[in-house]
Amino acid sequence: MSNMQWCHYRNDQLLAEEVPLASVASEFGTPTYVYSKAAILDAYGEFVRAAQGRRALVCYALKANSNLAVIELLARAGAGFDIVSAGELARVLAAGGDPAKVVFSGVGKSEADIRAALAVGVRCFNVESEPELERINALAAGTGQRAPISLRINPDVDAGTHPYISTGLRENKFGIAHERALDAFKLAASLPNLEVLGIDCHIGSQITEIAPFLAALDKLLELAGRIERAGVALQHLDLGGGLGIDYQGEQPPARGELLAAIFERVAAHPLGQRYELMFEFGRSIVGNAGLLLTRVEYLKSTPVKDFAVVDAAMNDLMRPALYDAWHGVLPVVRRVGQKVVYDVVGPVCESGDWLARNRALAISAGDLLAIETAGAYGMAMSSNYNSRPRAAEVLVDGRRALLVRSRETVESLYALERRLPPED
Ligand SMILES: *Cc1c(COP(=O)(O)O)cnc(C)c1O
Repeated sequence: MSNMQWCHYRNDQLLAEEVPLASVASEFGTPTYVYSKAAILDAYGEFVRAAQGRRALVCYALKANSNLAVIELLARAGAGFDIVSAGELARVLAAGGDPAKVVFSGVGKSEADIRAALAVGVRCFNVESEPELERINALAAGTGQRAPISLRINPDVDAGTHPYISTGLRENKFGIAHERALDAFKLAASLPNLEVLGIDCHIGSQITEIAPFLAALDKLLELAGRIERAGVALQHLDLGGGLGIDYQGEQPPARGELLAAIFERVAAHPLGQRYELMFEFGRSIVGNAGLLLTRVEYLKSTPVKDFAVVDAAMNDLMRPALYDAWHGVLPVVRRVGQKVVYDVVGPVCESGDWLARNRALAISAGDLLAIETAGAYGMAMSSNYNSRPRAAEVLVDGRRALLVRSRETVESLYALERRLPPED
């Protein structure tokens, strides 16, 4: 079992906290995402404890899982938020989050995105290009305020992760090249409607070593020194997110261990004490706090393979199809009996529609399975491909199971579509 202590067997029945997953399935149906309140708050709490006594803001990167209940839990716990669209900003506000703790990331902010953020007063725009600086400066004119900005620098460090989720290399679209950073800061400082607050980076996701974070930090500190010597004062360093989790035995540093190493490095730097530190963790806060509950529709044998065809598919959990990602599979009722090696696949008409391959399971048709470590980039990346209504979402809290998103209806899938006018 991966690092999901909130999931455990009692009398061969799998429970989420104190709730039997079989009862979640009978009450809410399948497929259903199930999240643990305690696991989310514990993960966030580890960062907060490590940051205690420091000037630091731990933001939650909404794109990993943007359910309102998840946002609200973290907002109540005092989290900041890292957003990438006006849609995510609307979610933070709808969940009672504080816009003054929101940092707005993303390489393609539209005018509407920027206007929405200026209207509510976000903490900082994390700007990714010179044209974006000009656009924010123009839109802030006449608002009576200077737009708070940080510049995202591409530190050109290898996060050692999957190419699709590596963002800090020179060839990536993200951030401003290291060697152009100084000029970009000078430009920002010269624009009348901007207030330069900080410097930021985000080097990738599912990073399982401390070293790449420290390498990026060193580059930011070195640049910050040059920026300050050029007369542009900075207030914060934002190191982004990207800390990895245990899917299949990966051993990422503990959350507190990573932050301690970063604070130590900052303290040793002559400029270090000057800066507030900001973080934008997504996966590390919610990834191990969620699972996808699904039911076996058929067991299908072919001459070369055995398939467990389940009612969840690539539209529900895209990571296996997109990144060749590995997720653990647990039977909700543990049976004695012969294990068979299955590919766990969905009903979607694509050969890439698989959730897990070559898993030894003792199961029958009709059984429930839990796909582990699905709390991050699961529901958030889901789609309606094959006109499949999106899954329900449930938050467990001790003995309680709260529905936090209803299963979509088929009618809602085409509610915005229009029939043709009558033929004449
Ligand atoms: C995706 C993203 C994050 C969160 O990444 P995780 O790997 O989920 O921690 C943080 N900051 C930015 C700018 C991002 O794009």
